[in-house]
Amino acid sequence: MADWKKKVDITSPDISAEGFQWRYCPPAEDDPEALKADAIRHIVSTLGSDYARKKKYNYYYGLALAVRDRLVEQWLTTQRSYYDEEAKRVYYLSLEYLPGKSLVNNLICLGLYHAAYRAMADFGLNLEDLTEVEWDAGLGNGGLGRLASCYLDSMATLGVPGYGYGIRYDYGMFNQVIENGAQVEKADNWMRTFNPWEFDRGNSLVEVKFGGRVKRWVDEKGRLRNDWIPEDKVHAMPCDMLVPGYRNKKTINMRLWSARSDREFDLNYFNTGDYVGAVEEKVRDENISKVLYPSEEVIQGRELRLKQQYFFVAASLHDIVRRFKKKNDDFRDFPDKVAIQLNDTHPAVAVPELMRILVDVELVDWETAWSVCEKTFAYTNHTILPEALETWSVELFGRVLPRHLEIIYEINSRFLNFVEQHYADLPRAELDDRKRRLSLIAEGAEKRVRMANLAIVGSHSVNGVAALHTKILKDSVFRDFDELYPGKINNKTNGVTPRRWLRQSNPRLTGLIGETLNSEAFLRDLDLIKQIEPYADDAEFRKRWAEVKRANKEHLRDYLEREMGAIVNIDSLFDVQVKRIHEYKRQLLNVLHVVTLFNRLIDDPGYDMTPRTVLFGGKAAPGYFMAKRIIRLINAVASVVNSEPRVSNKLTVHFMPNYRVSQAEVVIPATELSEQISMAGMEASGTGNMKFAINGALTIGTLDGATIEMADRIGKENMFLFGHTAEGIENLKREGYNPWQYYENDPELRRVLDMISGDFFSRYEPGLFQPLVQSLLSGGDRYCLLADYRSYVDTQDEVARLYHDQDEWNRRSILNTARMGFFSSDRSIAEYARDIWGLQLD
Ligand SMILES: *Cc1c(COP(=O)(O)O)cnc(C)c1O
Repeated sequence: MADWKKKVDITSPDISAEGFQWRYCPPAEDDPEALKADAIRHIVSTLGSDYARKKKYNYYYGLALAVRDRLVEQWLTTQRSYYDEEAKRVYYLSLEYLPGKSLVNNLICLGLYHAAYRAMADFGLNLEDLTEVEWDAGLGNGGLGRLASCYLDSMATLGVPGYGYGIRYDYGMFNQVIENGAQVEKADNWMRTFNPWEFDRGNSLVEVKFGGRVKRWVDEKGRLRNDWIPEDKVHAMPCDMLVPGYRNKKTINMRLWSARSDREFDLNYFNTGDYVGAVEEKVRDENISKVLYPSEEVIQGRELRLKQQYFFVAASLHDIVRRFKKKNDDFRDFPDKVAIQLNDTHPAVAVPELMRILVDVELVDWETAWSVCEKTFAYTNHTILPEALETWSVELFGRVLPRHLEIIYEINSRFLNFVEQHYADLPRAELDDRKRRLSLIAEGAEKRVRMANLAIVGSHSVNGVAALHTKILKDSVFRDFDELYPGKINNKTNGVTPRRWLRQSNPRLTGLIGETLNSEAFLRDLDLIKQIEPYADDAEFRKRWAEVKRANKEHLRDYLEREMGAIVNIDSLFDVQVKRIHEYKRQLLNVLHVVTLFNRLIDDPGYDMTPRTVLFGGKAAPGYFMAKRIIRLINAVASVVNSEPRVSNKLTVHFMPNYRVSQAEVVIPATELSEQISMAGMEASGTGNMKFAINGALTIGTLDGATIEMADRIGKENMFLFGHTAEGIENLKREGYNPWQYYENDPELRRVLDMISGDFFSRYEPGLFQPLVQSLLSGGDRYCLLADYRSYVDTQDEVARLYHDQDEWNRRSILNTARMGFFSSDRSIAEYARDIWGLQLD
């Protein structure tokens, strides 16, 4: 195996993933022969199949299991060493994860990609084709879930003793298909086929209780005891998925809980004869982990959702306490051994649950228990949208978790006493107002538990996910808390893992950078990528940079043709907006621009327009009417634009169905213009914005979320920023925002809106798009699209002009990538470790 150093010409037509691996990732001790033997053995012994038939299916599983064998070894060694060192553990509690596919990532992290490529080639198979067999693990909605997966990758890579805890949904994020231009949801049956990455641990069930009542009694030592007498019990079965670090021999795990009924063991049901009734109840129990709620940013207060939250929190805390007790007996040491990060308020019921374990079960006194909780928990806020701030009706909460409601009331009463003393000098009315705002319970017609307030009071750290977002938390959403607990609210700007979002998704660019720097160290220390900056002025390097982008565009073009029969012009500007469909993200503003270009082309067939391919992708929550209507509009506009001969070759629009991690990996490396156009102040951070810029796309965007921090580093002159700032929006709204004024004063805008409401795109369904136009005019335009329209369109014209100067475009593209080092999730996790979890990283 000495020839791995063979130089690969990245400019050759075969700029392949293999080429990069061949040169920069010398195979580990393992060689293709060992992988081949293990794959064959698994095809026969584990799958019971015939290896002589070269089916992709068999070989994918054979190879995956051979890789898993190696992963398990690393995982055992890693866990043993954390146990022996009595390391402080970090538990990331998240209702969502979005890992995508695992095979290639695991090969890359183990340093086995090349060996596997060779092994499969020897069988006459292409490794990249095998990955078509794998399903995306889609156990999350979007950004929040993907962040959790990037963070696990970084914890493994940095050697943080981390564990991800969550739910193993039977049905993850739905699959989106487009029928007659509209979104239709299909169940994601990801478990239908055997998942080679998962270890089910059916012999380590944890009991989780629900409902019932609290029995109070005095024990022999005269202590008041509270025993929860539940009405229902469900078992939680751990399913582990292993998460390797990047070539560091460390592996951590994501432990997902699956609900299992305990009723099958209950002989009473047979005795009473109601067998079918018993099975029905069993099914009802197992429903807890049946399906992921497919909406983000809007929380519906459904009983099953609360049960999901408590189910995974209770099982996880049980596991965490059990692991702590193996080597400790004094709970005052708990915060020295355990840090728990709450990914949004979804797991906030962990606060009263840990109090219940400590006070009711372990008989720790309240004050000590409370101090343990505060030091253990930290909470990450992800949104300021009022409709996304979680609250639960006290009635429902008390029915599902009677003891926890009592504990929350006790926490609240002590907390409000503290507030009372803290602000003893304030006038009574003002103090009462403050207490009302800070209280964990919202008073009103229906009392509600405020989960954010609970998470803030129960944590020592509350972080936002980008500088602007954190500022808004401090100045407005959680202002009272910031005054009460100065310093508790802090910022941790999000990041993305360069292993998946550069190495795996863009092997060509990785190869070019690796060859230029003669090292692959930037994949574990993304700051090193700034060393390509000087090459921005090197014409030869720019040429190769452009060749990589073009090869990626060809790959996307082939994908679009194969998957949806779409034909696109490879020489056009690839202009992409992929993310969840939400009004605040303003996909509709992008559509207004597309229709504007369409009109210009129709008016003047000689219009010298930069050819554009405008691509959209993203799922709408099934119950989100406006988001679904936006998808219909995109498809309706696409159908008119794409069939109009007068614009052909200059403007094409496509909606790519079923946006997900594996699709993002194809689309992002091929993108030239990244659309990050949310109303300023609304996008907490965004991570899509980072993935695009790392891959050399230029951004057209508002000063929102982490895009602001990207501009600080990339330089405003290398981006296309437009529109109102968050402060500008605030002023606009304070002065009484009137969308009609923009409609009346901008003829181009007026024409576009009139066309949409005048059924130009809905000839056979009159009125179809009225609700969209109404929301922008009579509806008040909550997200100020009209206020930013002119600035957006003018900035798009600048984009088009720059695209004519390919040399300058490529120069800026290189600078974008070179200056994105800060946005690695390794940097984010290092900050969490240092500032929040109290860990020393070596
Ligand atoms: C990164 C990512 C997101 C988040 O995108 P934003 O543009 O930050 O909203 C959502 N979905 C998938 C599949 C992703 O990979």
